[in-house]
Amino acid sequence: MHNIDIELVEMTLDVMKYSINRITNTSPELGQPKKEEELRKLVGDTITAKGIGGENAFHLFRDVLVKATVPIDHPRHLAFVPASPTRAAIMFDLVTSASSIHGAYWMEGAGGIFCENEAMQWLVTLTGLPVGAFGVFTSGGTAANLSAMVTAREYWRTNIKNLNKKALVITSAGAHSSIKAMAKVIDADVLLVETEDLMTARDLQNKIDRLDADQRKRLFAVVATGGTTNAGIIDDLEGIAQVCEKEELWFHVDAAYGGGALAADSVRHLFNGIEKADSITIDPHKWLFSPYDCGAVIYKNPELAKAAHSQEGSYLEIFKDEGASGFNPADYQIQLTRRIRGLPLWFSLAMHGTDKYKWAVEMGIKLANLAGELIADREHLELVRKPSLSCVLFRRKGWSPDDYRNWTYKNHRDGLALVTPTKWIINDVAETVARFCFINPDTTIEDIVAILETMEE
Ligand SMILES: *Cc1c(COP(=O)(O)O)cnc(C)c1O
Repeated sequence: MHNIDIELVEMTLDVMKYSINRITNTSPELGQPKKEEELRKLVGDTITAKGIGGENAFHLFRDVLVKATVPIDHPRHLAFVPASPTRAAIMFDLVTSASSIHGAYWMEGAGGIFCENEAMQWLVTLTGLPVGAFGVFTSGGTAANLSAMVTAREYWRTNIKNLNKKALVITSAGAHSSIKAMAKVIDADVLLVETEDLMTARDLQNKIDRLDADQRKRLFAVVATGGTTNAGIIDDLEGIAQVCEKEELWFHVDAAYGGGALAADSVRHLFNGIEKADSITIDPHKWLFSPYDCGAVIYKNPELAKAAHSQEGSYLEIFKDEGASGFNPADYQIQLTRRIRGLPLWFSLAMHGTDKYKWAVEMGIKLANLAGELIADREHLELVRKPSLSCVLFRRKGWSPDDYRNWTYKNHRDGLALVTPTKWIINDVAETVARFCFINPDTTIEDIVAILETMEE
């Protein structure tokens, strides 16, 4: 199967033709999930002793299986946090695969890691972190948050008083689910500042002041959010930074979704204080137009990450040799063997320039504000709160949670849009509301109007 024969040539042409068509398709069909039994019936057995052939397997994928997926870059896919990778980035994802570069160590991956680091330097510059700060690309925000939390916890444990203590981290109720999930992985406890809105310095200070003596000794870090996933809310990073400094706590900013907006001049001031963080998470696969998967973790002092993550092994020693000296991504996050997943971002940035990125991110913010105006103009609709970053929460007057759910399914079934409801807590009551999250600069006013019209019936 490593030979080059006629079957391989035909398969290659099929794949390249499909890829070019898909990449240039501006309105891909909004696919639907099907039940597993249904898919099984449609495609039959695909893994057999003799193989079903490239042509056959490819047609099953193209004609059946991919249609049971939602193209995340569809201009009316406004659910969760969408994505809309640039065409240049997607093309270079193909090149990344074709080049078979090992992304763990400079010795093997130098040229590729060089490219990643060029893109990383731009991200670091956006954060305003001091000279010396640097980071690596991870599989996503979850892995970035975990890598940062491990670094923080290990740094805390360099104080021998903390060696046998169970760590405790404070974050807000608006923080992403991955913070709690990754705290589980490192066996740390989590305390939440209970606020639907931004976490302020005072909220945080109150929480710290109310800890008992044992809890206070176990507290090692605070995680603030730079753009909540639900509503685009940015915590008071400046104030929280000051509290963390005074209380000697690690300050992590999870900007997995919102980080792209560091490039947008219109909202950059909302992130003031992020330059004082010890670590930051940004997902280029969300609002920086990279294909999946591409997250990033950035450290004020990368040496602390290296102390936590560098792996030892007799088979790895050569990588640490003088002769192979250079930046080793494996040393700064949880993964050893890794794809050069920052390469697509690098190529697209190099091709288009950072101004186009600024423009495309500003488009998401503009679309959110525009949607806000359209909602405010409509009798049966109401904003739940002012749009923030590219998120819009709004209600259809008189609708029950079931109405929102049926509306979501109907729009998806009709191939019009995928827009999902969320919850917003008002006076301790969780209300089901509608939510838009804009990422794709190709989404139009007409798209938004068409979706809002489906709420009239
Ligand atoms: C999406 C998101 C994450 C998780 O990132 P993945 O790339 O899905 O692992 C973490 N934090 C925030 C704020 C997010 O929006």
